[in-house]
Parts: sequence; C-alpha cells; structure tokens
Amino acid sequence: MKTQTRVVVIGGGVVGCSVLYHLTKLGWSDVMLLERSQLTSGSTWHAAGGFHTLNGDTNMAALQGYTIKLYRELEALTGMSCGLHHVGGVTLADTPERFDMLLAERAKHRYMGLETEIVGPEEIANIAPITNTDGILGALYDPLDGHLDPSGTTHAYAKAARMGGAEIVTHCMVRETNQRADGTWDVVTDKGTIHTEHVVNAGGLWAREVGAMAGVYLPLHPMEHQYIVTDDVPEIYEREAEHPHVMDPAGESYLRQEGRGLCIGFYEQRAKPWAVEGTPWDFGHELLPDDFDKIGESIEFAYKRFPVLERSGVKSVIHGPFTFAPDGNPLVGPVPGLRGYWSACGVMAGFSQGGGVGLMLAQWMTEGECERDVSAMDVARYGRWITPGYTLPKVIENYQTRFSVAYPNEELPAARPHRTTPMYDIFSELGAVWGHQFGLEVPNYFALPGEPRYETPSFRRSNAFEATAQEVRAVREAVGINEVQNFGKYDVQGPGARAWLDWIMAGRVPKPGRVSLSPMLSPKGRIIGDFTVSCLAEGHFQITGSYGAQAMHMRWFMSHPPEGEVTLDNVSDRRTGFQIAGPRARDLLQKVCREDISGMAFMEVRQLTIGTMTALVQRVSYTGDLGYEIYADAMEQRALWHVLWTAGEPLGLKPFGMRAMMSLRLDKSFGSWLSEFSPDYTAAETGLDRFIQFSKDTDFIGRSAAEAERVAPPARQLVTFELDAADADVHGYEPVWIDGAVEGFCTSGGYSHYAQKSIALALIPRARAVPGLRCEIEVLGHRRRATLLDGPLFDADGARMRG
Ligand SMILES: Cc1cc2nc3c(=O)[nH]c(=O)nc-3n(C[C@H](O)[C@H](O)[C@H](O)COP(=O)(O)OP(=O)(O)OC[C@H]3O[C@@H](n4cnc5c(N)ncnc54)[C@H](O)[C@@H]3O)c2cc1C
Repeated sequence: MKTQTRVVVIGGGVVGCSVLYHLTKLGWSDVMLLERSQLTSGSTWHAAGGFHTLNGDTNMAALQGYTIKLYRELEALTGMSCGLHHVGGVTLADTPERFDMLLAERAKHRYMGLETEIVGPEEIANIAPITNTDGILGALYDPLDGHLDPSGTTHAYAKAARMGGAEIVTHCMVRETNQRADGTWDVVTDKGTIHTEHVVNAGGLWAREVGAMAGVYLPLHPMEHQYIVTDDVPEIYEREAEHPHVMDPAGESYLRQEGRGLCIGFYEQRAKPWAVEGTPWDFGHELLPDDFDKIGESIEFAYKRFPVLERSGVKSVIHGPFTFAPDGNPLVGPVPGLRGYWSACGVMAGFSQGGGVGLMLAQWMTEGECERDVSAMDVARYGRWITPGYTLPKVIENYQTRFSVAYPNEELPAARPHRTTPMYDIFSELGAVWGHQFGLEVPNYFALPGEPRYETPSFRRSNAFEATAQEVRAVREAVGINEVQNFGKYDVQGPGARAWLDWIMAGRVPKPGRVSLSPMLSPKGRIIGDFTVSCLAEGHFQITGSYGAQAMHMRWFMSHPPEGEVTLDNVSDRRTGFQIAGPRARDLLQKVCREDISGMAFMEVRQLTIGTMTALVQRVSYTGDLGYEIYADAMEQRALWHVLWTAGEPLGLKPFGMRAMMSLRLDKSFGSWLSEFSPDYTAAETGLDRFIQFSKDTDFIGRSAAEAERVAPPARQLVTFELDAADADVHGYEPVWIDGAVEGFCTSGGYSHYAQKSIALALIPRARAVPGLRCEIEVLGHRRRATLLDGPLFDADGARMRG
C-alpha cells in the first residue's frame, strides 16, 4: 500500500468506486480507495439495483440519465457485466395532481432529449399486464428504467478505476483523518498512514462517523428499507419478455421482475430511522430483521394494484439501511471551511445517481468547477444552522414523501419553524403563510381575512392568487414592505477590499455612496453569483446576494482569498431590515428619517437616522419600482418595523411576500438566482453581461471566457414571452416549440398580476430571439401560444424606478 497519494477515497461502495473511476477518467491516476471490509460492504450489497431518470430537479434527472447510459460504457471498458436489464418502466398516476406531475416531467424531458412518453390505461395494461388499472388516469413510460447487479456494477467501476491507475485497498479501516498545517491530510488506517492532498468521504452508512473524524457534521441519516422477493409467478415466467418496472406512487411501491418472480419494495408511512446514535462499526453484511408490521398497509394496497401478489409466496425479504439527506438529494462537493475535504455522501439512489455524482465530483476536483449547476446536491446547500435534530425529522419526512407529488409551490412542514427573524410573530399576526429558505422562515404571502393560512399545493394557480394580486397592487399603486432578511449579506473592509472585489466580481465596483450590480463568474464564465455591491466608504463595502447560496458564496470567497489586508464577515443573520417599494416609498422614507432624501438618486447608498436607529439605506429594488432597502441591526428590527408601519399605514403600506416579489420581478424580466442566473448559464446568455465592466484593468475571474463571448456570442439568449395560459403558468424547464420543433426551454415564469398576463422567461436560439416571434410553450401537456415581448411590462423607460 502506498503512503503518499493525491486523493484518498474512503469507502468502497458504488459511490466511492464511481468517484475513483471518474478521477482516473479525467486524468488523475495517483488516487486510491480504502475500504474497511470488502467492496460493497455498506448499503450497496443489498440494494434492489433499480435505476430511473425521474427526479424533480432537472439537473439531477440529467445526471441520472448520464449514470444509466454509463453502464454500457463500463461494460465495454472492463469486459465485466453490470447485469443490466433495460426493461423500461411506468410511473402510475391515479389522481389529476399526480397526472399533472407526470405531464410536467414529460415536458421537461423533451428538451433534455429523454424519450419518455405519457400512456393511458390501455397501454399500461399492455406494457405492464399484472397492473390493475382501475382508477389509473395514465402513466409516464420511460424506456431507460431498469435494474442491474449492484455488486457486479460496483466491481466494474473498481476495475475501470484500476485500469486507470488507481489503487484499491480492502480490509483497511480508516481511523483518523488529520489535517496538517499546510492543508494536506494524514489518513490514519490500521495498515498505516497515508499522506494525501485530498480526502473524499464516500463512507455511505458511516459517512457521519467518517465526517466526525475531520470535525465535520454531514446532514444525513440512515433509514430502514425493505423489499420482498416472491416465489415464482406464472404470469411472469410465462411471458416472453421481461416484465417492466411499475412505480405506484399511490401505493408508495416499486415493483419489478426478479428471476421467475417479482420484487416489490415500499416507502412506507411508518418509516423507521436506523442507528440514530451512530452506525456501529461492526455492521456490514447482516440484514435487519423482517418487519411486516410497518409495511402491512402498503402490502394490502399492493394486493389491489397487483392481484398476482396475493397468490404468490414470499421467497426472501431484504431489509437494510441506507442514508438520506434532509431533501433526499446527495451531499456532494468541497466541504465549506476545510481545504481538500470532499463529500460524496447521502446518495440514496446509488444506481441512478452514482455515476453522475462521481463525474461531478471528479470534475470539481480536477477542473475546479462542474460542467453544470450542481446546487441541488451541493453539500453547501446547508449552512451552519443544520443540526442532527433538524436532519432526522426532515429525513423521515423525505422518506415518507418519496413517492408523493412534488408540487412547485409545496412547503414541507417537518422541523419547522427552525430559524425565524424577530418579525415572525408580527407577520404571523398579519396572516403570513410561511415558506422557507436555507432553514429560515420567509413569508410567501399574507392570507386574506377569513382565508386559510395554507397554500394548496398545485401545479396550477393556487389559493394564494388573490392575496398575491392584492400585494402586487399595493406595491404598484402605493407602497409595500417586506423583509430583506433573506439576502446573503457580507461586510468587506480593509485597504485591499476594492482590489479584491475588482478581481472576484466581474462588474463595476462602485465609488463611495454608490451601488452597482455585478455577476460573479467562474473561470469558465459560468454565473456563480449575482450581487449588489454597495460602497459605504472607501475600503468598506456591503455585498448582497441570494440568502440560500451563503455557504457556497463563503466557500468561494475563502478559496479565493484577497492578497491585501481585507476582512470578510458574513453578516446575513445579524444585519436585517426591510425593503419598501412603490410610488409612495419615497414619501414613507421621508416621513421616518431625519435627513432630506429628496435628492437621493437611484443606486445611491446612505446612512440615515430612522426613528431611534441608524440604518443603511440604498435606493434599489428587485420589484423594479421606486424602492429602498433599509438595513439595520437584527436587534433593532422590530423597532424599525414599528416606525415604518406606523408612518406607512396612512400611505397604504401593505406587507408583501415572496409570491408577490416573484410576480413583480416578471414585469421587468428580472432573472432570479438558480432560475436564470445559475452555473448552467453564462453572462452573455442571460443578459448579465451588461453588468460586466470590461473597461477595468483587472484580470477578474472569468474575464477571458466573458471576452470570448463578446467575440463569438453564445448560441442561445434569454427572452421573455407572454403566453395564452389557462389556469397554470410556467415554473421552469417547459419546452419552447418553434415551427413545430423544441428549440428552447423556460427558465422560470409565473403570472404578472400587474400586467395580468402569464409570463415565461426562456432560453431560445439567438437567431430566433426577435420581438413578436410566435411560438408555443408546453404547460401540463398543452401547447400554449406564446409571443416574444419587446420590452418590460412595467416602467419600460425606467422613469419610476430611477425618477
Ligand atoms: C433495501 C435497499 C434497497 C435499495 N434499492 C436501491 C435501488 O433499487 N436502487 C438504487 O439506486 N439504490 C438502492 N438502494 C440504495 C443504495 O444501496 C445506496 O444508494 C448505495 O448503496 C449507496 O452507496 P454508497 O457507496 O454511498 O454507500 P455504502 O454502500 O454504504 O458504502 C460505504 C462504504 O464505505 C466503507 N467505509 C465506511 N467507513 C469506512 C472507514 N472508516 N474506512 C474504510 N471504509 C469505510 C463501508 O465499509 C462501505 O463499503 C437500496 C438500499 C437498500 C438498503
């Protein structure tokens, strides 16, 4: 065993082996994997081996597609069999809501090039004849669904990695991971110590324990999971072709052929967490005792859906644990705050996702960034607020809702409220219906008197529609107020602050008293941040961005440290306040502050005395209206509220939530983080290039990529459509049909309550981006007529915003 290497991967399950293979594939051959027992000794060996592309997150779905297509490549490379059964599969829908979800998924797949199909009950009966289709409205058929041999596949990854130069050491337990002063690592095992530049935690069932060796808390938890293999079933073995998979969300089950019988597994409501206090080191090749009690109701339901099951005996029961993160997506990437420590954990569907996880992590390690947006599985999507007490109920909830409809407006209740601002009770009294971002409660909207404090989950317009319309009206006709708590805020100070910001931000770093907007780019020119930069004094800045991206921002800032003397402080939760917006916003601000603000210009920042507070006020608003962001110390937020509320009520002041905010921004075609502005896109594609300051003499990060786009503009361009919608608007990834072919996709959309129009933001070929273009956008199975707009719906000349 070598004692010096570039990367040590801890864990020889399917995920660790995939990471190892992808590292070698991308050219790093001095890599090794350490496995405490034999390969597959964690969750991997007892997996049912099923794979599918369906995932509510489009990037995750694409990575699942990559994983599935990779298996043939692995077989060809290694000469080993992955035991592939590409039998296809149907996901059933028995309610209009479930059917809506499948229609939405099908629409997304069109642009992704996945050849799924919506089928009706008769076709389901032909494809999967053991299914009782009573009450079934339809299904999504995916020819890529199938299953494989978990052990064969893991060993194929391992062989491919060895062929690329990797070393794999089994029966080698990692006991400690100790970081040296220079940032490199000593991995202490019972066979000796290995010095390495990078450590990858692919510890699966033991990822928590492996993380703890480096002082890292990884938010994941193992859950018990059980599937049953039946005796031979004549309806199965008498068939010529193998029976496809059937996913039955109503019964929370998945079913497939296993040999001459069937295999059926459940995501039961009586879900049981496993090893709450930690995974025992001596666990490995044993199974958990059978537990039919917890799946009794699921089995009864399955008898109705698949009547052959009632006549089939049980051949074997597989009951084992595997891990989940609070939202069910993997935890991948560089662990914030620890140089050279990478996570490849929480992969609950190793055979659908393992290839994509391996590829993304290997790209991140070898190239510094991934080829696509991996925010949905980035380990930094959780901040310091995450605790084992939060993770456990969220993981249980995720297990229980694994087969539930995932609505775009849905708010899952477990472990909430977790973090609240001083405004929580005040807003609750005003009718707030809460959403959450990065663990924080954020008002989605304020329920109208007599209306329920609950938004109906739906793909269509919800019961929040009228309340949101009224909040939008208050902003456009009088003045609205909401919190600026959900911005990530950073205080940057020191003589080197300007030079550092000039390097890290592509945009203009403003003069004292001024504010500017700036994209933050990766070296390849991808958008990794979208910031407001305010110069409070020379050498003192506030930068604000997406609250949910805080840990990712901080990780990027810390890994691109300033050369000069600079202090960087994440003040997101300490500095808070409100934004006020609308034609009467200036009157309101003037009423409450001592200074004369009549001359305060658009994009100006000042310190003002408001009531008893000294607040930082900047004239900018994401609503596209006349507006101000008012920042104060979190301890003063309630006092600030009372001053603004008392003065504002006679002016028609109304609170507004995120639903109204997202409607208001559509009036100006303002993009939003992770919809239009994400690492999937470049500045020139999305129009953010207008904020890049090419004239500055700094070699800012991403400069050469951004300059290359000036010479050769990208093939696609962000545009805004108005569409003839019925009762459902665009949410994201709906295909855009131009002249009968899918030529683009929506990034986001919704209803503009101000213009009373359904709006979609979309990326389409640059050559087609001509105002007035008529095309179609597919929403829930219907192709809706759409027209490309030639300017903002509100305040087209900016007179209100700047006036
Ligand atoms: C009953 C059941 C059915 C399932 N069905 C499916 C399915 O149909 N499809 C699907 O995609 N997924 C399925 N899964 C989930 C799948 O098994 C997991 O997603 C996958 O195995 C996770 O792989 P992993 O490599 O992350 O973790 P693991 O398989 O747990 O591997 C981690 C490895 O790390 C090693 N290790 C840990 N600590 C150390 C240390 N200190 N030193 C050295 N080595 C260490 C362990 O020995 C282990 O081999 C199922 C799981 C269960 C339990």
